[in-house]
Amino acid sequence: MTAWTSNHFTLEAVGKGIYAALAREDGAAMGNGGFVDLGDRIIVFDTFNAPQAAQDLKEAAIHFTGHTEFIVVNSHWHGDHIRGNQVFEAAPVLSTPVTKEWIEREHPGRIRKQQSMLPQLDEDILELARKLEQDTLSDAERAALRNQLSFLKEMRIALPELRLVSPTDVIEDERIIEGTDRRVRLFSCGSGHSSSDLAMEVLDEGVLFAGDLVSIDNHPMLDGGDPQNWVKILNCLEADNYSQVIPGHGPVGDSRSIAVMRRYIEDLFKQAEHVDELDEIPQSYQSWKADFLYKSNLNYIRTRTTL
Ligand SMILES: [Zn+2]
Repeated sequence: MTAWTSNHFTLEAVGKGIYAALAREDGAAMGNGGFVDLGDRIIVFDTFNAPQAAQDLKEAAIHFTGHTEFIVVNSHWHGDHIRGNQVFEAAPVLSTPVTKEWIEREHPGRIRKQQSMLPQLDEDILELARKLEQDTLSDAERAALRNQLSFLKEMRIALPELRLVSPTDVIEDERIIEGTDRRVRLFSCGSGHSSSDLAMEVLDEGVLFAGDLVSIDNHPMLDGGDPQNWVKILNCLEADNYSQVIPGHGPVGDSRSIAVMRRYIEDLFKQAEHVDELDEIPQSYQSWKADFLYKSNLNYIRTRTTL
């Protein structure tokens, strides 16, 4: 599409003035983000896990739209969606009130702790680099180690300068933001993937920025969310027939991807009833990334239903 490149994400135009930024496995982004040219300013949806990835997003947005004024949205409180907020300086940062509360409660301590562990991180980097030199590694092991090493090195760059910028404005249920060229609708249906999730629809364009309410070709994380309500939210989103869905993790999809996510959670509920079985990942999800989440997702559902 373009000559634009970043070490942290690939940029995909999903409509005129609408861009998905899809996290690269070896970069600092971790989760997906994106931006929409409203005509007079830019709305950024999620800011990745580290400032250097968000800085690339900011530069890409200025490059492709010619605007310099930003509005930032945080879909939910998880670090891989908010830790780049600081690069957008004085821009308003929008989230739900619950997300703002969780960000302010959870992140200061986490950031302090990670910053205090920088010497340990340096050792981990050296250790991984040593492991990579072994010639007994398979290609797959080598690739996984390389991604892991690259990720740790990015965290080494991010942590000394990382500072928390929390949301400045909150949206209870819904807000429409009108630009001169495009309008977006930010809306929340409560807790699904996290304690509170906000999605963004580009009105009249059939495009949905779903945050982590949708993962594609990746196991989602259920821990900390409300799986029952998540299914209800996905049922509502499916009815809206989006032609492009930008997930929190994985490649761009469409309404069918929303249905797949709903079925995944429904299948977990079914599997959760059979406590004695081996809990093997069903065939349909075996190729998905982050497969370590499958068992913890089942446990989460089992624990919640026995409460
Ligand atoms: Zn998340």
